[in-house]
Amino acid sequence: MNYAQHEHHDFLGASNQALADPPLQAALTRLTDTLMAGNRKGYAALADSSALRDHAKRIKEHTLAHLDRYLEQLEASVQKLGGRVHWAATADDARRIIVTIAQQAGCQNAVKSKSMTSEEIHLNGALEKAGVRVTETDFGEFIIQLAGERPSHLVAPAVHHTRESVARVLSQHLGQPLPDDPKSLALAGRRVLREEFRRADLGISGVNFAVAETGSIVLITNEGNGRLTTTCPRVHVALMGIEKVIPRMRDLPVFLKLLARGATGQTLSVYTTMITGPKRPGEQDGPDEFHLVILDNGRSRVLATPFRESLQCIRCGACLNACPVYRRIGGHAYGGVYSGPIGSILTPLYDSVTLNPHLPHASSLCGACQAACPVKINIPHMLIGLRALQHQHGQGGHGGRHRGRWESWAYRLWSVVLRRPWLYRLALRGARLALRRWDQDGWLTRLPGPGASWTALRDFPAPAALSFRQRWKKDLE
Ligand code: SF4
Repeated sequence: MNYAQHEHHDFLGASNQALADPPLQAALTRLTDTLMAGNRKGYAALADSSALRDHAKRIKEHTLAHLDRYLEQLEASVQKLGGRVHWAATADDARRIIVTIAQQAGCQNAVKSKSMTSEEIHLNGALEKAGVRVTETDFGEFIIQLAGERPSHLVAPAVHHTRESVARVLSQHLGQPLPDDPKSLALAGRRVLREEFRRADLGISGVNFAVAETGSIVLITNEGNGRLTTTCPRVHVALMGIEKVIPRMRDLPVFLKLLARGATGQTLSVYTTMITGPKRPGEQDGPDEFHLVILDNGRSRVLATPFRESLQCIRCGACLNACPVYRRIGGHAYGGVYSGPIGSILTPLYDSVTLNPHLPHASSLCGACQAACPVKINIPHMLIGLRALQHQHGQGGHGGRHRGRWESWAYRLWSVVLRRPWLYRLALRGARLALRRWDQDGWLTRLPGPGASWTALRDFPAPAALSFRQRWKKDLE
């Protein structure tokens, strides 16, 4: 099974469906507006957020340049503490390793804290097939597990749900009607999940950062479920991609300051948990066994390409909230485990550029993603790179489809006009005259022909009465 293993689905169809879903549109607007405002406020509260973000980027660049060294150091540190390290080249390997750990330890009930990497390898299905019951313990993840869905956001997996739909799903699970107020729902969720923690013999978590120097894994959560997952069961398996390693403990605060601010605008997430090996003699809490599974699954291949920068991602979700495309179509339309601008890069890279033709084009290249990103990843640049790759693969230049004859002619004509200033000026004048009849107070609200697809969803600015050059000339007079 490959990296994303998602249905190579109809991106345009799914996007149109999302656009025609008013509750989804309301939920997306509500969440992304709130998180984006938090992101801006969070950065503004730092003395020099830009310098801190540059610093974080330099740490990531350095780590990726010496990844082999730091991963080996991490392995040695974890082993010294009594933990076991497993290397998984593919998603298949990772699933097999985790299932074997569960079977050898005789585990039957697993609790899991939120982990996109475990979604990436489709872990739950493999464990269930091996007879291990898995319960997601992040409340949003729990709801989508009950609903049989995939996460639709990196940090808010159930963003596509309203409180009414959460009440419906939870009521169905409990076999009793629940009111749709958030407090009652949270209390009901807590009741169910506490029982699962009590029963669990296997805890599975992701890893936000793994410190090579000390062998500590760092989990950042807002619900505290990560702590219960990693301390109650007798076996703990932590799953991380190779890019999650950082060199030293003193690098960690740089990312702690940025991750929560990037994601939600919080100064710090509610729980920052550092786990340094299994339970030691004389300690009350913690697992008897600690396993760290380090996953490649296509990442080292990307390391050697111009798309290496994508491995700097700390999965904060800020680029999703800022992206005008994600904000309208939500996460499921992307089809892969990772959505939004960073998903439009990761899915084609790890899954297939050819089989995900629309993703590199699911962006206006406005740069809002890069502006919001705590490590300033140049997402637009990489999306353009992926478009160039598609072109090299003979996939045409637009959403991976070959251009029709009319479109090719239109581009040829466009290039002829752009190379001749006098013709360009003439064409502008002609366009201004032709579009005048649809002009309503400076906006074109209903265009004919191919322009109709644009104005079906938003207005188009009418051409200005005077071109820039005309205004410039006039001002000089
Ligand atoms: S690309 Fe940047 S903004 Fe997007 S999830 Fe990764 S770290 Fe966050």
